[in-house]
Amino acid sequence: MLRPFALHRPGTAEEACGLLARLGDDAVPYAGGTELLLLMKLGLLRPRHLIDVKRVAGFDAITDGARLTLGAAVTHRAVERSPLVGRHCALLAAVARHVANVRVRNVGTVGGNLAFADPHSDLATLFLTLDATVELVSGRGRRELPLTDFVRGAWETARAPDELLASVRLTPWPSGTAATYVKFGVHERPTLGVALALCRAAAGARVGEARLAIGCVDARPARVPAAEARLTGVAVAELEDVAGAVAEAAAAAVDPADDLHGSADYKRAMVAVFVRRALRIAAARARGDVAPAARFPHAVVA
Ligand SMILES: Cc1cc2nc3c(=O)[nH]c(=O)nc-3n(C[C@H](O)[C@H](O)[C@H](O)COP(=O)(O)OP(=O)(O)OC[C@H]3O[C@@H](n4cnc5c(N)ncnc54)[C@H](O)[C@@H]3O)c2cc1C
Repeated sequence: MLRPFALHRPGTAEEACGLLARLGDDAVPYAGGTELLLLMKLGLLRPRHLIDVKRVAGFDAITDGARLTLGAAVTHRAVERSPLVGRHCALLAAVARHVANVRVRNVGTVGGNLAFADPHSDLATLFLTLDATVELVSGRGRRELPLTDFVRGAWETARAPDELLASVRLTPWPSGTAATYVKFGVHERPTLGVALALCRAAAGARVGEARLAIGCVDARPARVPAAEARLTGVAVAELEDVAGAVAEAAAAAVDPADDLHGSADYKRAMVAVFVRRALRIAAARARGDVAPAARFPHAVVA
């Protein structure tokens, strides 16, 4: 049962932050409610005031420029359908299409996903390969920090109680980048997510820069510099030759715990398997082949 609460619907960030500052511990931001209302129904959270961020001016905007900016109240569905997202990062639109289920996608927001910092998130993992930064706003002003600093651990962020997440800014990969996101899950939320982007060197036949992020197995998603280094400079035609070394480096970099999603050993082994798969798909895309997604029937490939 939900305890009674007051719903505030501010129209500006200043108003919303003023409410958060004034109401203190009794108030929480509220977007799509897909996480928040679950916690409240379970009695794990009992706020007296919900500050609805969906009407805050600018929070529902998707804009481009030097970077692609997604307002905090942009829904997964809006990401999936946005022409701007499609133009600058088609893979992001494809990943949004596979988040949760249609009910969650229609109301769940990008900001709610990142602010909740559930380790089983697709967005945070993919965003790490897009050098994401988040913008936080409060009565004290605005600040921007890298997503790696924002997500501190499982359900833990650098957000102060009087701050709102206003937007996330992404740096789209250079054209010609071959990228994929592969996820696997046995429950509603993903058990594993692998994001891989192979940016080409100027000449085009080699990898100039590789970005690999692993999510859902550790308390927070992370890039894997050792695996990225192993891919840098490799000829596109020889990418599959280094798949074993890259998969090993990725499996060695994670530090999973036993939980309902599986044992630590299982998760580590799955990281190796799925990094290999992601590399096979990205390598095929880099060569211009049709990606072999159909060979991985139990995984979602974007
Ligand atoms: C059944 C199910 C399956 C799911 N599967 C996936 C999946 O496959 N992949 C995936 O990535 N995610 C998945 N999710 C997570 C889903 O993406 C999130 O639930 C959703 O995006 C959260 O957004 P929301 O707007 O509903 O947040 P809310 O529930 O409204 O808020 C979540 C938290 O964020 C805070 N918050 C919200 N907005 C802001 C803001 N602007 N500033 C500061 N704090 C804020 C709230 O106070 C609350 O603590 C799943 C969720 C469910 C319920």
